[in-house]
Amino acid sequence: MGFNIAIDGPAGAGKSTIARMIAAKKGYIYVDTGAMYRAMALYLIRENVSPEQIDEKCQGADITIGYENGEQVVYLNGENVNAYIRTEEVGRMASVSSPNPRVRKKLTQLQQKLAAEADVVMDGRDIGTCVLPDAQVKVYLTADSHERALRRYKELTAKGESCDLETIEKDIIERDRQDMTREISPLKQAADAVLIDSSHMTVEEVADAIITLCGGCQWK
Ligand code: C5P
Repeated sequence: MGFNIAIDGPAGAGKSTIARMIAAKKGYIYVDTGAMYRAMALYLIRENVSPEQIDEKCQGADITIGYENGEQVVYLNGENVNAYIRTEEVGRMASVSSPNPRVRKKLTQLQQKLAAEADVVMDGRDIGTCVLPDAQVKVYLTADSHERALRRYKELTAKGESCDLETIEKDIIERDRQDMTREISPLKQAADAVLIDSSHMTVEEVADAIITLCGGCQWK
């Protein structure tokens, strides 16, 4: 097993920004597991799959990842789908399809294989609890839902996309509810994870806090 850092938390808590920073600083591989669930969701949307058909149809999606210029690229049946998975529609479908046991098994196996082969910073919802229960460092990163919505709103408006803050916050709260209440691998803080509330912290402060947590561990 490589050195594993697991970062879990609700939507928009800044997990990917922080995980990417830590991975770059430590020369580790960043694994964005949400992107894999999003690629699966994209497949289901494209195939016009209803919630009842997810179990059967998810087998048609072959999801793999690679790295181009240090960035994770998700391939869906051989196609680089990075450009299509960041929409709110795909995020909602990911939350609807991710409770499916077959979807989870398929993606969890891929994630565990990656972590076995390299030193990784992996973010998601169930990394510390299910995917990498033996990770050397576990963090549960959260922030106030209004603050998380505001961050996403700023991100989208900076890209020139029109959006509504209230709708974003409602969406985030609904997605968290689904992720926290599903039967399999619900989003929750692992018993041995450190809670970081980033509501009033900068990204650098959060990254430093996590790097400090790694201080007691042996870096390779
Ligand atoms: O993190 P991101 O917003 O990209 O994740 C999209 C959705 O994928 C989440 O709302 C959740 O339903 C699902 N997911 C999951 N387990 C993970 C990562 C993401 O169920 N490890």
